[in-house]
Amino acid sequence: MIVILFGAPGSGKGTQAERVAATTGTPHVSTGAILRAEVARGSALGREAQPIMESGALVPDDLMVRIIESRLAEPDATGGVILDGFPRTVPQAEALDLMLGRNGREVGLVLSLEVDPDLIRERILRRAAIDGRSDDNPEALAARMRVYQRDTEPVVDHYVRAGTRIERIDGSPPIDLVTAEILKVLGAPTAPPAAASTIAGAETAS
Ligand code: AMP
Repeated sequence: MIVILFGAPGSGKGTQAERVAATTGTPHVSTGAILRAEVARGSALGREAQPIMESGALVPDDLMVRIIESRLAEPDATGGVILDGFPRTVPQAEALDLMLGRNGREVGLVLSLEVDPDLIRERILRRAAIDGRSDDNPEALAARMRVYQRDTEPVVDHYVRAGTRIERIDGSPPIDLVTAEILKVLGAPTAPPAAASTIAGAETAS
């Protein structure tokens, strides 16, 4: 099943996507992680994306759609994926629906992680201290929150209109409880494997 893990920056979607992927064996596809890997490699794509990411803005839709199209065409993605950070705009969602539809597929579930904005700010500042992500500074964070509200929140309405199953999950409880709730919604066994729980200490959020 194609699952979209949806949530604001700092809602914990990256951490949860990783843990759910480890438990269910479903590939975790994070467009932020793909872009950060391109930046680290110094590829043409990475050089184009880096200043955009550092400002907290969004990388152009056509580039993101091409990235996701080639990732979803990989053999491990045929049984489904957990999408983290994509789609982030309504045009991206429309492009995703079209590309899936061409192969008789569709988004099966949107999991929306809902977290209070004050808790989000606190988590992101903690993540900045732990991982030193270059877009976790106050200016970029403010830009990312504005972009989220303006461009990304309407993606949920897109899936409401499409009649896609949407589950809203409270992302404020401790990491293990949120993971258990997501696994319950997915109908998967709720005990995360030891490897997944070792990352709980970091309590980072993306
Ligand atoms: P994330 O790790 O998901 O928070 O993504 C980090 C940054 O990568 C974002 O602030 C954007 O600049 C860029 N990015 C990641 N995914 C997308 C996307 N689907 N569309 C546009 N930009 C993206």
